Amino acid sequence: MRTTIVCLLALAALATPALAQTPASKGLEIYVVDVEGGNATLFLTPSGETVLIDTGNGGAQAARDAARIIEAAKDAGVTKIDHLIFTHWHGDHFGGLQEVARQIPIAHYYDHGPNVQATPATDEFFKTVYEPLTAHTVVKPGDTIPVKGLSWRVVAAAGNVLKTNLPGAGRPNPYCAESKPQDPDPTENAQSVSSYITFGKFHVVHMGDLTYNKELDLMCPNNRLGNADLFIVSHHGQAISNSPALVHALSPRAAIINNGTRKGGQPDAMRVLFSAPGLEDVWEMHFSLLSGQEYTVPGAFIANQIDQQSDAMPIGTWTPPLPGQQAQAAPTHNGKSNYFKIVAQQDGTFTITNTRNNFSKTYRPAGSNSTR
Ligand SMILES: [Zn+2]
Repeated sequence: MRTTIVCLLALAALATPALAQTPASKGLEIYVVDVEGGNATLFLTPSGETVLIDTGNGGAQAARDAARIIEAAKDAGVTKIDHLIFTHWHGDHFGGLQEVARQIPIAHYYDHGPNVQATPATDEFFKTVYEPLTAHTVVKPGDTIPVKGLSWRVVAAAGNVLKTNLPGAGRPNPYCAESKPQDPDPTENAQSVSSYITFGKFHVVHMGDLTYNKELDLMCPNNRLGNADLFIVSHHGQAISNSPALVHALSPRAAIINNGTRKGGQPDAMRVLFSAPGLEDVWEMHFSLLSGQEYTVPGAFIANQIDQQSDAMPIGTWTPPLPGQQAQAAPTHNGKSNYFKIVAQQDGTFTITNTRNNFSKTYRPAGSNSTR
């Protein structure tokens, strides 16, 4: 712990002059951290301001996930979190807070308001961890999170969605017809704080775990968001989110899934991604057993292996046992972990790098965003 703090301080001393020298030429950096099917996504603006969306898992995984977040922050030269957004009150999104907050100062918190899915563990979290911390802001659709150099719009929160069009958006959405509403979702997922982030001509969408019917509320009959260049895939790549009405209408050039080996990446979700117009590549945090080889992506686009890699990956897709059935233990990944780093420029160019193999790809501006 002490070593980490000392290293961070040393890095801070090194990083500050560098940032001060080249603020105009630096891009927006985004780090999608491996928290094993949870979420932790870090943004660093050219002016040095930082936003973290979610803090990974709690319980026995909290120390592991916090260490991974701090490692990405160190690599980025980040020594403070200016804005921490909690998408919703599920443990894979807020669980690591206490561990993260111990290791890096956090200035301000944003959330959707009260938890609609109380459990003893979340009640305890609010009482002992969250409420004693500093003030937090409850956001609603249409709100702006004040990040210098970015336009950060909240487009969904607490089950409500944006009712007006973002600038330039609002065309009829042809993908609504093929997106049939699913069963109502009474869980915290549907409460997710969702963000549409603009840096010059670069747009990135992070919906948290917002579920299917809320996507339809937001995107139908008219596409209120317009296009995106990068889509952080909703809900770890599960098919109870990621409707064509959202994913196809956004028409992103690249998508990154924060999936686990047995969470997200099901065929139904992968089909929607692979058939999205304009989408060049899907990047996955892990090979998903649920995808099998049938629905996975080339290994170069996968950031993490498991601790004991098997010789062969399953060809067919895999259905996890229903809850309550005897389940085989999931393959573990507590060792070295890798993240995706994105550097975006104001002209819309962005590069994604897989830090496992240093494979990277640059996406150039698409000419005109004519499908808005
Ligand atoms: Zn989740």
